[in-house]
Amino acid sequence: MRIGIGGFFHESNTFCRPLTTLQDYARTRLYSGEEMVAPMRGTDTEIGGFLTGADEFGFAAVPTYYAWAWPAGPLSDECFHTILDRLKDSIAAAEPLDGMLLQVHGAMVTESDDDPDGTILAEVRSCLPPGVPLVATFDLHANLSPLMIRSCDFLLGYETYPHVDLHDRGREAAGFLMRMLRGEIQPRMALAKPPLIPHIVKQRTADGPMAELLALARGAEQRAGILRVSVAAGFAYADVPRMGMGMLAVSDGEEALAAEVAAELAGEAWERRETFLADLPDAAEAVRLAIAEAPGSGPVVLADLADNVGGGTPGDGTVLLAELLRQGAQGALVLLADAAAVGECLRAGVRETVRLIVGGKVDAMHGPPLAVEGRVRHLSDGVFRNRGPMRDGLVDDMGRTAVVDLDGVTLVLTERRLAMWNLEQLRSLGIEPQRLNIVVCKGAIAHRAAYAPIARRLIEVETPGSCAGDIRRFEYHTITRPLWPLDRW
Ligand SMILES: [Zn+2]
Repeated sequence: MRIGIGGFFHESNTFCRPLTTLQDYARTRLYSGEEMVAPMRGTDTEIGGFLTGADEFGFAAVPTYYAWAWPAGPLSDECFHTILDRLKDSIAAAEPLDGMLLQVHGAMVTESDDDPDGTILAEVRSCLPPGVPLVATFDLHANLSPLMIRSCDFLLGYETYPHVDLHDRGREAAGFLMRMLRGEIQPRMALAKPPLIPHIVKQRTADGPMAELLALARGAEQRAGILRVSVAAGFAYADVPRMGMGMLAVSDGEEALAAEVAAELAGEAWERRETFLADLPDAAEAVRLAIAEAPGSGPVVLADLADNVGGGTPGDGTVLLAELLRQGAQGALVLLADAAAVGECLRAGVRETVRLIVGGKVDAMHGPPLAVEGRVRHLSDGVFRNRGPMRDGLVDDMGRTAVVDLDGVTLVLTERRLAMWNLEQLRSLGIEPQRLNIVVCKGAIAHRAAYAPIARRLIEVETPGSCAGDIRRFEYHTITRPLWPLDRW
């Protein structure tokens, strides 16, 4: 058996600029054919899972094309079509194939396509001869669409947020593909979309309404004829018609049964709509709470919701840094992406005093640039290997990085944006996260995989910016209305 493997992945925030380009992919992960195998094998990624599946189920994994870039603004048309053409060409070159395993996100947007994930699946489908199955995985934040469902044979999504089951989903997808090829199952998919988008912090899967819906999905999978049920929370920061939650059921040969299960789960989500709301402190209140927190083991973690690098934002928002300095916090750490400030630190050198204007440079949504003075403690190449629950095994690159001691706050400045998803990021700079008093993580939930086990307390902060938790801050033009909680009824 020859099974093609590949991926084209992006979470696109339509409130963010600039557009995502081929260069953004090139400096993250853009692999042709065999190039993807060595860096991805054994990692907590879908490709890692496809490769495990190949070993376990005894098929030959034929690597085609893989493109992954950090969440950011929508893809330029040029970027999208270049990568899509390369993926299609790679699949054509790999044929004959008995099946195809593909990783998409489900919340991609491009300059001129509001459902590019559907386009990717449809185009890949068109490369494969009739009867050759296409099985794809998607992110829990997917905004699922009917085109996506129509354009492949089997779709399944992550079950965790923070996302720590990428490898397992890849392996599972390989298993379903094998069952199809052996003629054991005939998947039929149905999608139901409740008119609802949960507050980002209520999308976490450890507890609350998402945990309840996932438990119901697992229960539904026990019903005769049901193969798999996925719950997509949706991605609120994409102004596209398909934005919102999605319930996807896959049955064995019974379209009506899949539709019934998906509709039931959508009803359960709607019943829980009030519990998907959140009321969170603003920056001043959150910093006050953090400073007032009794001393103890591990840091108080402040989640800068609106500057969520994992949701596409610039990562240079200054709102919480300004507030920590204003309130005289001690033992705090903030990480900002600011290549110009890194350059000034490099020119000054370690042990030197620097006066910097940091952050707030990409747009006007995440707080103004801030004047700070401090001493350069450490300079680094910014490259590290992730260990532990998220991105385990993958090498990440922050660009050149400077650690600057301000009065009470350690300021980490990086050339590139990188979400704080793994403790190795700070450890690679000689900083032990456990010994911090307060740490700002620019994100909503994903940082919890690394930081919840060491945190003294986790506080989510309703900051302003392009991933704001309160989505009433945004002006939507093309989403399907009514949509809870923008419209309440
Ligand atoms: Zn996600």
